[in-house]
Amino acid sequence: MVLESRPDGVPAGTAAADLLSTDIPALRAQVDAATPADVEKALRSPRRSLSDFAALLSPPAAARLEDLAQLAHETTVRRFGRTIHLFAPLYLSSECVSTCTYCGFSAANQIARRTLSPEEVLTEARALTARGFRHLLLVAGEHARIVSKDYLVECVQVLAPEVPSISVEVQVWDADTYRRLVEAGCEGLVVYQETYDRTTYAGVHLKGKKRNYDWRLGALDRGAEAGMRRLGLGALLGLHHDWRSEALALAAHTSALLRRSWRCEVSLSLPRLRPAAGGFEPSDPVDDRHFVQLLCALRLFLPDVALMLSTREEPAFRDAALRLGITHLSAGSHTEPGGYADPSDAEPQFRTSDNRSPAEVVDLLRANGYDPVWKDWERA
Ligand code: SF4
Repeated sequence: MVLESRPDGVPAGTAAADLLSTDIPALRAQVDAATPADVEKALRSPRRSLSDFAALLSPPAAARLEDLAQLAHETTVRRFGRTIHLFAPLYLSSECVSTCTYCGFSAANQIARRTLSPEEVLTEARALTARGFRHLLLVAGEHARIVSKDYLVECVQVLAPEVPSISVEVQVWDADTYRRLVEAGCEGLVVYQETYDRTTYAGVHLKGKKRNYDWRLGALDRGAEAGMRRLGLGALLGLHHDWRSEALALAAHTSALLRRSWRCEVSLSLPRLRPAAGGFEPSDPVDDRHFVQLLCALRLFLPDVALMLSTREEPAFRDAALRLGITHLSAGSHTEPGGYADPSDAEPQFRTSDNRSPAEVVDLLRANGYDPVWKDWERA
């Protein structure tokens, strides 16, 4: 379905257009053709190309996983020091009119839904700042009336005096709406394409505005144009059967965003699908070994990009991933509206795996020689 009010395709001169002109199938073929010599060259290269990245995703590179991990660790420490940034998602609303097969908030699911009032949002934020958080990610389902532009702007306005860093992960909007959010005090925009494969995308986004692939793909360009200074992107690993082609598209998109929006800080997230309300079970889960290879390859191809890991992952894996290039962690997360200040009876979007408190995560970071960073930004 193409929405009448939105142009087909993506505008020229954007990262989205750059991605669409990248020959991902050709890069995918390079993954299959990569030799141990290609992997060695990619490991040694001081400035890696997308072809080097393809080699790092290959089976011969999997045989060099220890080398990838060591290099990824050294690269991360050189660029970021021994620091881990901490952030928390704050769910505003589980109302949604879209049907996405993998999501607990899908309109098709009969669940207890809730939308926080701006006052409740502030109460939740205060519970989080009391635990140390200064970077909050506001998350909501897609409901243009209940989770309207005005509602989002109001939530940001209410939080801005007390929360130094606010990002949003909500339905995608036009540049004017992003401008309003920036003026209200929002500085970050997170938009996962979920899957870069158009056929898979159409197969999992059954109803709602999210079906418009190109409009979503261009959202980060519109956010950057509107003045967002942090851009976050990612793919839901496990939606599409071929994680390597997803990785190539994600890396190409990120690289294009870094080129086009060079003033912005860019972060990447690689959520692996978790079971959700509605009985969803991921059909193509990405195993730990492949996930580690992907994290390391991304770090080596994109040394300046922040890599995030959420509480979807098991505690032991999160602890190990500290040495693989991860720079940002969420901790003690709730994926339902409410829940930080008081228990909430709303259904979560998905089940988390790491339920340790922020204080426990901080202790673990310190025990491993890392400094937790709660705040790296102050509004002028
Ligand atoms: S992924 Fe987003 S748009 Fe789709 S059902 Fe979930 S909350 Fe709604």
